[in-house]
Amino acid sequence: MIKLNNINKTYFNGSPLHVLKGVNLEIEKGELVSIMGASGSGKSTLLNILGILDTYDDGEYFLNDVLIKNLSEKRAAEYRNKMIGFIFQSFNLINFKDAMENVAMPLYYQGVPRKKRNILAVEYLDKLGLKEWAHHLPSEMSGGQKQRVAIARALIANPQIILADEPTGALDSKTTQEVMDILKEVNQTGMTMIVVTHESDIAHQTDKIIHISDGLIGSIETLK
Ligand code: ADP
Ligand code: MG
Repeated sequence: MIKLNNINKTYFNGSPLHVLKGVNLEIEKGELVSIMGASGSGKSTLLNILGILDTYDDGEYFLNDVLIKNLSEKRAAEYRNKMIGFIFQSFNLINFKDAMENVAMPLYYQGVPRKKRNILAVEYLDKLGLKEWAHHLPSEMSGGQKQRVAIARALIANPQIILADEPTGALDSKTTQEVMDILKEVNQTGMTMIVVTHESDIAHQTDKIIHISDGLIGSIETLK
């Protein structure tokens, strides 16, 4: 489903920083993989490239056999919308919109009418145990609740891949496990899931740990 050949990425603001130095990686449909590595090792950079949120300089990225390179902003947004759901450490919810409106957002970008997208959003909130919270603002919710809203938002457009960048990084250990259990459950439905984490016990709940260091894939631990 995902194939990276010799991906290179350098940031050029200030002195050039060569972050990814030839990354090769394959991820199959339905896999639950984690990416581990020291802070600054390029995990988010890699995830942003996978999510078509950022470009790369050299190499090739194939997503379902489509070469993701030199896409127009419009094409990139189309692929992103159709294929990929994102979950972030800091939730990235819109503060002045309630839980339902936040969850419905990806459908807004797909042109789904308001009434239909709101009904679906409440359904997804219900699946995540948050139906009663549909009309609450993010500021009225706990970290774990906010992350469940973000998971519902990631799922609502029925993407093929979920990319999660330290999804439990801002949560206590009990909530961390609750969120991890939800992600595992979603993966059980066949959805490919890539989780960046620096917590070893999170990584050890995935099928495969991909270690990144010095801009390269160091080793891959297969756990299942
Ligand atoms: P990680 O997620 O593993 O902590 P990142 O991918 O965020 O690492 O960052 C890798 C390196 O690239 C870091 O040194 C970071 O400071 C730098 N970096 C990340 N994003 C940018 C950017 N937009 N511009 C310049 N440097 C960046
Ligand atoms: Mg990061």
